[in-house]
Amino acid sequence: MRTVRLHDTRSGELKELRPRDGRKVGIYACGPTVYGRIHVGNARPFVVFSQLARFLAHEGYEPVLVANITDINDKIYDAARPAGRRSDELAAEMTEAYIADTDRLGLGRPDHEPKATAMVDEIVALIGDLIEGGHAYVAEGDVYFRVRSLPEYGALSHRDVDQMDQGEGVEGAALKEDPLDFALWKARKEMEDTWWPAPWGDGRPGWHIECSAMAEATLGAPLEIHGGGNDLIFPHHENEAAQTLAARGRPLAQIWMHNGMLQMGEEKMAKSVGNIRGLAEVLDDVGRDTLLWFFCEGHYRQPLAFTDERLEQARGRVQRIRDAGRRLEPGASPEELAPHRDAYFDALADDFNTPRALAAMADWIREANRADAPVGDAHLREMLGVLGLENLLEAGEGAPAEVVELAERRASARASRDFAEADRLRAELRARGWEVRDGAMGQELVPIGP
Ligand SMILES: [Zn+2]
Repeated sequence: MRTVRLHDTRSGELKELRPRDGRKVGIYACGPTVYGRIHVGNARPFVVFSQLARFLAHEGYEPVLVANITDINDKIYDAARPAGRRSDELAAEMTEAYIADTDRLGLGRPDHEPKATAMVDEIVALIGDLIEGGHAYVAEGDVYFRVRSLPEYGALSHRDVDQMDQGEGVEGAALKEDPLDFALWKARKEMEDTWWPAPWGDGRPGWHIECSAMAEATLGAPLEIHGGGNDLIFPHHENEAAQTLAARGRPLAQIWMHNGMLQMGEEKMAKSVGNIRGLAEVLDDVGRDTLLWFFCEGHYRQPLAFTDERLEQARGRVQRIRDAGRRLEPGASPEELAPHRDAYFDALADDFNTPRALAAMADWIREANRADAPVGDAHLREMLGVLGLENLLEAGEGAPAEVVELAERRASARASRDFAEADRLRAELRARGWEVRDGAMGQELVPIGP
């Protein structure tokens, strides 16, 4: 079992992973608010934390991955109303779409996917404890967190309290003791079609308290790793941390791990910016193998540019792994190659450095290719497994006869320099789910997508 170090946003340092009891590692990663289909930027934390859990399991830890589904939120009401739909129906539909879209990443499901609507009792109880402890107050059916009651507030996001804007705008402003306070519970409004009962009146929870309650209910506190995109550090994670610390006297998490944003040009990919690409659409275009590889090429903490060039590069690398796999044979790998395998896992233990790990994998392949006799594939299978890419070593299903025939017609069109016909046949092959590649060994047929 390697010692695993991860960058902790709160301390600003690499922190050693030290499970509370034995090997169990609780990971809570903030999941989507289900008001629309998710975009490829939303998939980054899903991929990072799923692969991290796989790596920890490989090392002998027992990870428990929780990714919540925020199905009570302002954004859902705001999206449902103009569409003339019930907000709970929209949320249920988008939850299904989220599950279907992320299933296509082929990384399995998180161990728990709690929904806010299924945890309202826990949420109400936690708010009750905060009121009782003097950290929250009721104002006309709303409940607000009293930020200045907690001296540690701001320790995660490293902001001065005077530079904090809860982003709640004018809503509730007149009811707050202090503009810094944020909503734990919002009283029932006429224009909102769902509400739940609470001792201080009907209404529904705020976003931040939902996560504190769901994290505590599934993993307890302090859980080992709390994750999410770095756009969530303030106010969402600061407020989650504050609520649990104030109510329980214990920190919510030992390590706060944040992934960088996917970039489109100079800006982060975000619905609010209007520069998004749907996850389903990207999977249709490039397939899950290429998309997962694309993510792994960037260190999780850094921003990652979403460009055609990088996707094309990832596609090429995936193809190289498949090619290398065909030259290997099943079975144990030679000991001489073990240092590259070890370097790969050491890189993942060092703040989950996937680009450095992939470089070690490339070294392993380079050396395996130099061997005179076929080399056993066990190391490579082990390395690919933690990324969910071991399928690259499976001998693909052969192309059906009519696809082979189309490919042969394309080859002869190219040979007679009829490029228009060759392109048309390539498009026809793509439509049937096959990509034709021209290499030194002639053309090759590769299935597209997952
Ligand atoms: Zn959250």
